Amino acid sequence: MNTLTKTQELLARQRKVMLPVVSDMLLHGDNPIAFSHGKDQWLFDIEGNKYLDFFGGILTVSVGHANDEITDATIEQLKKLQHTSMLYLNETAIELAEKLAEITPKKLQQSFLSNSGTEANETAIMAARNYTGNTDIIALRHAYSGRSSTAMSITAHSHWKQGHVYDGTIKHVKNPYRYRFPLEVTDEEYMDFLVDDLKEMIRTCTTGKIAAFMAEPIQGVGGFIVPPLDYFKRILPIVREAGGLLIIDEVQTGWGRTGKHMCAINHWDVEPDIMVFAKGIANGAPSGATIMTPDVAASVSTTLCTFGGNPVTSATAMATINYIQSNNLVDNAEKQGKVLRAALENMKQGNDFIGDVRGMGLMQAFEMVKPDGSKTPDVEKANQFVDAARERGLLLGKGGLYGNTIRIAPHLNLKSDDLDSAINIMQDSLSVITH
Ligand code: PMP
Repeated sequence: MNTLTKTQELLARQRKVMLPVVSDMLLHGDNPIAFSHGKDQWLFDIEGNKYLDFFGGILTVSVGHANDEITDATIEQLKKLQHTSMLYLNETAIELAEKLAEITPKKLQQSFLSNSGTEANETAIMAARNYTGNTDIIALRHAYSGRSSTAMSITAHSHWKQGHVYDGTIKHVKNPYRYRFPLEVTDEEYMDFLVDDLKEMIRTCTTGKIAAFMAEPIQGVGGFIVPPLDYFKRILPIVREAGGLLIIDEVQTGWGRTGKHMCAINHWDVEPDIMVFAKGIANGAPSGATIMTPDVAASVSTTLCTFGGNPVTSATAMATINYIQSNNLVDNAEKQGKVLRAALENMKQGNDFIGDVRGMGLMQAFEMVKPDGSKTPDVEKANQFVDAARERGLLLGKGGLYGNTIRIAPHLNLKSDDLDSAINIMQDSLSVITH
């Protein structure tokens, strides 16, 4: 008699025909979830369970599953034209690039459209090297940049580096991760430490000239690590002095996620030379965009992306941005983000195994640590918490270099009663894992 559930059958099929790593990455290990469909904030699995989605397919479904307006705009375009390539003019892609020029800092005007964050980051690195004539790139430890050789070289998590090929011209400075800085210092001393580390890195490990400094405003895979608000202003003059450009990767933070601004980097009040977007910009359709100044753009010669800016994905991305803007979702992210943050701070008060609460807008996280003051990451507790929340119908993410960070990133059109339900489930889940 076959006693496997439908989900277990699927897992067995997957294990036979897909690389083992695909199954190894499943969030709930040998007890995974297979979804049959989604609607707005809800996901439904093939066993008949319903979940409130607070991770959005890794910060990618930004405004709800099967969002009617976005689905309609996508279908309308699909019926008209799917693909023509970059060899022909394409009005939907032009419209998207116009929108990007409007929402990003003023000096960024020209875009290259692609299909993923990895490709968009590759474009950024290529452009910076072409423009400056320099090769070295400075990135941050705990960064995640994608899965091409260059992107894996920028990525600074050992387990995400595969293939035995690393670009030795990419150097990593200490990331602004105050919680894990081992010394008691003032904010000013901490910033001085980071700045000195960057200066020393350029002086000792590069030719003295760099193509770019590249960073996420908030490290996503790294566990939603938020730099101090003077961070980018302090490092920018050093980058400039070394002849480098500032590349900002907004693949996770982009388009309203952090509240107040469409682009997260505006919180730090600096103007990058190149910005990168993907994930949430098309609510789940594969899409990437790299926007840069016209000078930098002019340095890029022949390059083509077959699917880049295809009419359907561009229409989906346009519908997504229109939805975010017309429903004031940037404000909603800020408003709901404050409620979520206050609830998390409150949970920390009662639970000494919650080590650090951080984030911005609807991108909030906390670390699970041993309750002995050592800040030792507690991966087991993080797993127990995510599993307990899932059992209660709430989907959360996990991440960080140590695998102990709970990542919470609901859709930007989050409603108050859904947030209340999620907070109740998190509280309940915490009380279960305490004992
Ligand atoms: N940059 C950041 C900040 C990311 O989080 C990711 C994906 N997690 C990427 C780039 C790569 O994007 P993709 O998986 O679409 O290639």
